[in-house]
Amino acid sequence: MFGRERIEYKTPEQVLLMRRAGLVVARALEAVRAEIRPGVTTAELDAVAEDVIRSAGATPSFLGYHGFPASICASVNEEVVHGIPGGRTVQPGDVVSIDCGAIVDGWHGDAAFSTVVAPAGAADTTLSAVTEQAMWAGVAALQVGGRLGDVGAAVEDAVEGRYGIVEGYVGHGIGTAMHQPPEVLNYRVRERGPRLRPGLCVAVEPMLVDGDPDTTVLADDWTVVTTSGARAAHWEHTVALGERGPWVLTAPDGGVEALAALGVRAAPLAD
Ligand code: MG
Ligand code: MG
Repeated sequence: MFGRERIEYKTPEQVLLMRRAGLVVARALEAVRAEIRPGVTTAELDAVAEDVIRSAGATPSFLGYHGFPASICASVNEEVVHGIPGGRTVQPGDVVSIDCGAIVDGWHGDAAFSTVVAPAGAADTTLSAVTEQAMWAGVAALQVGGRLGDVGAAVEDAVEGRYGIVEGYVGHGIGTAMHQPPEVLNYRVRERGPRLRPGLCVAVEPMLVDGDPDTTVLADDWTVVTTSGARAAHWEHTVALGERGPWVLTAPDGGVEALAALGVRAAPLAD
């Protein structure tokens, strides 16, 4: 389940380089979030992200990745992940998920958030909030001495069976490439996976569906949608595990506030 490929453990110096990429991603996502309103096109949101990334001297990692044509993925409503930005306009009540990655000096950051456009339906707002909480529960489970499988177990426990957990797309190691071993599952499996060691850097990214989590890919070969048409949310952070705990590289505060709410101390190498 977790594979046998070699994990690239990072030195503290390398983690500091990844923090730079993580902060660029954080800024790009904040800029996009500020522009999400009825009438804006997903292509316009993409341009906002690309401008922030390039202005920082960074490179958008999604652009050209296996031919992907944009700097963000913009996935709306029944779209789960990998939506291609274009002429679609955001509508009131839409669930909009934005995923973004950037490279600084060869090191990657990768993060995503969902938001509901006003007037937001209560069910959609809760879907996004629970997905975010499940992500933080997964991040909090990254503790030296634990097992990688603790992340998926924590995500599943946080969902409490309220939503479908997408299984076909998972989190991943990250560093000198956007996607590296190991896979980071969003659900519990029998095999507990490799022991958690300092220097592990992973993207934790649960995708939840307000209904059946079965997915299919559209004819554009990218956009992942729920087969049932049910709405989905997606949250993601890039996290480095240090001796004293997790440091959330794509959160401006390193995850201090959200982890404290779970009784876990974030452990920044610097800030
Ligand atoms: Mg991502
Ligand atoms: Mg990712």
